[in-house]
Amino acid sequence: MQSTESQPNAFSLTGKLALITGGGTGIGFDIARCMVQAGASVVITGRREEPLREAVSQLGETAHYFVNDVANLEGLEGLVEQIETTLGPIDTLVNNAGINLKKPALEVTDEEFSRIIQTNLMAVFALTRACARRMVPRRSGSILMISSMAAYYGIDRVAAYAASKSGVEGMVKVLASEFSPHNVRVNAIAPGFIETAMSKIAMGGDPDRRDRAMRRTPMGHFGKPEDIGHAAVFLSSEAARYITGASLPVDGGNSIGF
Ligand code: NDP
Repeated sequence: MQSTESQPNAFSLTGKLALITGGGTGIGFDIARCMVQAGASVVITGRREEPLREAVSQLGETAHYFVNDVANLEGLEGLVEQIETTLGPIDTLVNNAGINLKKPALEVTDEEFSRIIQTNLMAVFALTRACARRMVPRRSGSILMISSMAAYYGIDRVAAYAASKSGVEGMVKVLASEFSPHNVRVNAIAPGFIETAMSKIAMGGDPDRRDRAMRRTPMGHFGKPEDIGHAAVFLSSEAARYITGASLPVDGGNSIGF
């Protein structure tokens, strides 16, 4: 029989530093909250300072923020450098920041398509590369992408968003393969319908659309941001040390089939 040499609480993040993009609101905030509860120090980022300041005041003294627009790719190397210089090595990166655009494909402009790809895909790669350049020589790290079930299903009017999230899903497997020999894990969480500002916009205040989404969810209700937070803690922890290249649906059963 194989012996297990896990730490007493393999789900603990005590002593770890996590960087969570878009951590001031919605899913990102609850990922930060769950990680703080698991013992981590967190750095959250976003474009607007006010929600970040408010979030940090709720998260407590182990939380820090940096105002940063991930779509500004050339700033990401400097962001990681600044965080590591002031707070120490980043153990966990959570690429959570994302934007959506709900529009019929025939009306989407090149600029709109490009804006989604820049934020949801190119920034994810650029920030991951900046962190992995430091994690690989340290032979330690966990990288997590917040993807979407839109990567798997033909949800209408989200062509650019689905393209960006499908790109992320593909990238997870490649990066997991490249970084595995260096003990750096790369995984994704694919949320279903989670109650946040983004999902409200996606539903467009349309009760019929909401009812349809609910009917497609076997568990019969939408998820809460903390449902993603708990999964993020698990995948970032020692408990998931043999998991890499995976995409975990957290969707109340949507992925069973539409
Ligand atoms: P919200 O719109 O509620 O939050 C998005 C967060 O990202 C905000 O804090 C926002 O802050 C930040 N953000 C957006 N653009 C940038 C940027 N360019 N640079 C830095 N930060 C940015 O969305 P959710 O919490 O719902 O979504 C979080 C993630 O989960 C996204 O990747 C989304 O695609 C994914 N997801 C969500 C689902 C849902 O049902 N809610 C379902 C599937 C996936 P600020 O505006 O200040 O920059």
